[in-house]
Amino acid sequence: MTRAKGQGHALLWALLVGAAAGILCGWFVGPAMQSVAWVGTLFLNALKMTIVPLLIVAVITGVAGLGGTGRLGRIGGITVLYYASTTALAVLMGLILVNLIEPGTGANVTAAEPPPGTAERAEQGIPGIFLQMVAPSLAGAAAGNQLLPVILFSLFLGIALLRAGESGRPVIAFCEGVNEALMTLVQWIMYLAPFGVFALIAARLGQAGGQEGILRELQALAWYMVTVALGLLLHFGALFCILRLLSGRGLRYLDSLAQALITAFGTASSSATLPLTIRCVTMAEVDPRSARFVLPLGATMNMDGTALYEAVAAMFIAQVYGIDMSLTQQCLIFLTATLAAVGAAGIPQAGLVTMIIVLTAVGLPLEGIGLLLTVDWLLDRLRTAVNVWGDSVGAAVVERFLVVQAPAKAAAEPSPVQN
Ligand code: ASP
Repeated sequence: MTRAKGQGHALLWALLVGAAAGILCGWFVGPAMQSVAWVGTLFLNALKMTIVPLLIVAVITGVAGLGGTGRLGRIGGITVLYYASTTALAVLMGLILVNLIEPGTGANVTAAEPPPGTAERAEQGIPGIFLQMVAPSLAGAAAGNQLLPVILFSLFLGIALLRAGESGRPVIAFCEGVNEALMTLVQWIMYLAPFGVFALIAARLGQAGGQEGILRELQALAWYMVTVALGLLLHFGALFCILRLLSGRGLRYLDSLAQALITAFGTASSSATLPLTIRCVTMAEVDPRSARFVLPLGATMNMDGTALYEAVAAMFIAQVYGIDMSLTQQCLIFLTATLAAVGAAGIPQAGLVTMIIVLTAVGLPLEGIGLLLTVDWLLDRLRTAVNVWGDSVGAAVVERFLVVQAPAKAAAEPSPVQN
């Protein structure tokens, strides 16, 4: 364990150096850094290859470890309550800040083309969020990176395996073995991470045109960025307080999660970071049953950073267009931003696309999304890190309830699927 911790710290330093070198090279070298983008893609692809098998076995063993539908229901309820309340807190924080700072009033910005997929999303609306939970083909969903149907399928398969009793046990034990092997694979892939994170950041800054291009992009939307970044920072702190109060953990937990947070910043994808998040949370000795249940669901459904960003962005668009938002409309933004964040996939810029739901609900112009595009690469990375932090805090908080519920039984007969 000590050796593993030592290696973890070495990797963390390597990641920090990789990220800092990426920022410096992208800033000073500029567009030429785009030639290293393939190294970042290689790293991302390697991580993504582990996601679907890991999700399936992690969720099955997590559900089986809970030992029955009664406890699963209670833990599920607590998990959803945690997701909903922290997301609502994030949106509220965003709305308060955007009303106080008013970044859009008098801003001089021009709209770019909305991202691909925006028009399709506009047609799907809120029913689209529910429809994307169940896919007609499991393989098709996995191939298309739709993780929610895969998670729901694994969840119910886990329950069915528990119901199967004796004959389900070898399958659960098999999943446990695959889970452990995949964790080792993730550890190997992480040796690539410092280079991957370096390449992803340097190439993106290079694409923005080096220092001149970046400064130009940032200046036009400076106050908007300050509002989102400040909101994310405050919410990060609020989550830390929740962690402290409800789980008793603190800075050491944050330290254990640092690798996942930097990777989230580098990849702008909470799904791609998920294998590492599970590893870091497990290394921090959170009960695996909580980690395997809360993290996969959280990576696709619990997006505090995205929700906060969507609320700020919608209000920013209204301010730029000079449209006054009444309290009722802001309540609608509050509700739809929470829902839109649930509907956003854990991939880069997904939040930008699901923002359609918020804009449509309050009748704001959809072209407004084009206003935000130029700086989204940076805000996306920041909100993804907060998304991953929110899930990790959730795993530690839910663990507490697991212990409170069945201390004697858990101590007397440890679950067969526990590490
Ligand atoms: N990139 C974010 C994530 O993966 C989603 C978003 O807000 O665009 O968590």
